[in-house]
Amino acid sequence: MTTIQAPATADTLVVSEVFGPTVQGEGPTTGRRASFVRLGGCNLSCSWCDTAYTWDSSRYDLRAELRRLPVDAIAARALAGSPGLVVISGGEPLMHQNQPGWTVLLDTLTSAGADIEVETNGTIAPTTETLASGARFNCSPKLTHSGDPLDKRIRPDALTALAESGRAIFKFVCSGPDDVDEAAELIHRYGIPPATVWISPEGTDAEQVLHHGKAVAEPAIRHGFNVGTRLHTLLWGKERRR
Ligand code: SF4
Repeated sequence: MTTIQAPATADTLVVSEVFGPTVQGEGPTTGRRASFVRLGGCNLSCSWCDTAYTWDSSRYDLRAELRRLPVDAIAARALAGSPGLVVISGGEPLMHQNQPGWTVLLDTLTSAGADIEVETNGTIAPTTETLASGARFNCSPKLTHSGDPLDKRIRPDALTALAESGRAIFKFVCSGPDDVDEAAELIHRYGIPPATVWISPEGTDAEQVLHHGKAVAEPAIRHGFNVGTRLHTLLWGKERRR
């Protein structure tokens, strides 16, 4: 991506990377041709995070990793190659939704005819403007094995708002049957319909994804959930911008 420095006063957003077209690797649109806008910063710090370069200043030089870019440049790069779907990811992208550049980005992508998916950890409720954009939400609440404290990773108001939007699916990263049971407990507590749940096997290489996929598939099906994968990991491993 071209590095363009822009003043914070313009319609800008803090970006880690914009790439594609590639494929959506997770959730109900797995395999769909898509580009990604990865925004900087996160309000959690999951132990197994595979995009820690967007938020972890103890391991990465965030001044080199993140750039404030004009929204028109972000949108132009995301729409290059006519991907059809643009996934806004992070980090935690909903941390940016009160910046003017956020709605400009959503409007620009929608006007160009792109479908939008926002990948969120489910701790921040979408604003009225975000909901009005027509974006769909891939919400991934974090379980105990993330290492995040319960009161940080589970925010009932945000989960309820996402469920009530009617445009969210809930993706749980699981390594084994106990994780699937924990996901089941959560969704029953917050009234999330099982048909909107995808169980995604944890793993940063094909071997782990398959190993965990085999461990979680049966319990997921028993609970009435869908079973997902990490297609980008199966195809390209840890390679970035895939
Ligand atoms: Fe990483 Fe997502 Fe957890 Fe944030 S919420 S630390 S981006 S896995």
